[in-house]
Amino acid sequence: MSVALFISDLHLCPTRPAIVRLFEDFLSRQAVQADALYILGDLFEYWAGDDSLGETFNATICSALKNLADHGTRVLFIAGNRDFLADTGFALASGAQMLAEPTLTDISGTATLLMHGDTLCSEDVSYQDFRRTVRSAAWRAGFLAQPLAARKAQIEALRQKSEREKLVKSAASMDVNATSVATLLRSHGYPRLIHGHTHHPAHHTHTIDGHVCERWVLGDWYASGSYLACDEIAWRAVTLPAP
Ligand code: MN
Repeated sequence: MSVALFISDLHLCPTRPAIVRLFEDFLSRQAVQADALYILGDLFEYWAGDDSLGETFNATICSALKNLADHGTRVLFIAGNRDFLADTGFALASGAQMLAEPTLTDISGTATLLMHGDTLCSEDVSYQDFRRTVRSAAWRAGFLAQPLAARKAQIEALRQKSEREKLVKSAASMDVNATSVATLLRSHGYPRLIHGHTHHPAHHTHTIDGHVCERWVLGDWYASGSYLACDEIAWRAVTLPAP
């Protein structure tokens, strides 16, 4: 029996120590027994660049993942909008295999497409413009050329701006767009889809061109933690006891 676990949107940060402990417990209890742990983005509240591994908090999280990988659970990582600057330094420190987005893979015999999910929120045009900018090689190089403290200050300002904008954006514009989901699944041969980002955990089914496709949305790690577990027999969404 091969067991894969999926998590996303942990937003780990030093100001939420109970959730950090819950994550470390999850690694040592559930994840250590799995064959693979897929992290589908936003593991960290933010990642300002691989030189932030010099900070104890980030180094501790990465070494907990490395410990898991060294014990035989494959750790696979797709970056989210908060941690897309994670690069080879992060991969080395955490033992994670970095996956492209989206990644189409076989999970217990079913073709499954994995992604963070922010690209599906296509009605949020200003966010998609922003995303295109910050994902460009030129922006990345320019940003990473600045001192770490300057980068962190800019990220903090962006986060505050984003929180203000969320108050005026409609809930629908920040959720996934059904047409974007259909287009994506059609272009990948109608696989199952797993993503996070929206913080609206659910199990949807979409009928696209007569194909029934499942879409699992992962939950966030705020009130508690949660994960999706898959083996050859079943898929189940598990919520951990609140810390
Ligand atoms: Mn996100």
